[in-house]
Amino acid sequence: MKDCKLCDNMIENVEKFCKSHKSAAKNLDLGYEIWRNRLDSIEREEYLKTLLEISTTGTLVKQVIMNELRE
Ligand SMILES: [Zn+2]
Repeated sequence: MKDCKLCDNMIENVEKFCKSHKSAAKNLDLGYEIWRNRLDSIEREEYLKTLLEISTTGTLVKQVIMNELRE
């Protein structure tokens, strides 16, 4: 067992994130698909940065975004 990359929750070794962060990451991916269909083409980085600026974006999602932008 080890820690989630983004919080102190314990996770299986094969996983990167805990359950909460994993579902946040999944929502992020689903949202990107929707945006990409709607807006011809949008770079993933641009999508992530836009979401960071939207106040309704959840904290968990923002943590996933910051982690991805850092990588
Ligand atoms: Zn977590």
